[in-house]
Amino acid sequence: MPIDATQPYDDGNIFARILRGELPAKRVYEDDFALAFHDINPQAPTHILVIPKGAYVSWDDFSARASDAEIAGFVRAVGQVARAAGLVEPGYRLLANTGLDSHQEVPHLHVHIFAGRPLGPMLA
Ligand code: C5P
Repeated sequence: MPIDATQPYDDGNIFARILRGELPAKRVYEDDFALAFHDINPQAPTHILVIPKGAYVSWDDFSARASDAEIAGFVRAVGQVARAAGLVEPGYRLLANTGLDSHQEVPHLHVHIFAGRPLGPMLA
């Protein structure tokens, strides 16, 4: 079910539980600001999710409320994950679904990293 990007943060969401180690995930990177793991239902040969450590529902929530340090740390982590996975060449795609029309399903901000094949033009 898609979620409303402006809803209050739900501490029981599935990515909060992964962050707390209550649920398994194929983790590939972690630092003070971010955790990255392989998507459970990959849509490309490489499909990694990067999530902030802080409690943010969506990109909208994160960009409005997170500190400059959290934002910088998270953005750097996304880049580091892609570099460490060897994705810079031939390239990768970032996606952060936000709210109902985007079909965001998990109410904790996540950036998708897709790579591993030509991804084609952007979806409208
Ligand atoms: O952007 P959106 O909210 O639609 O994406 C959620 C993503 O979280 C999906 O790609 C889904 O496969 C992934 N997921 C996951 N592990 C879970 C639950 C969902 O990787 N335990």
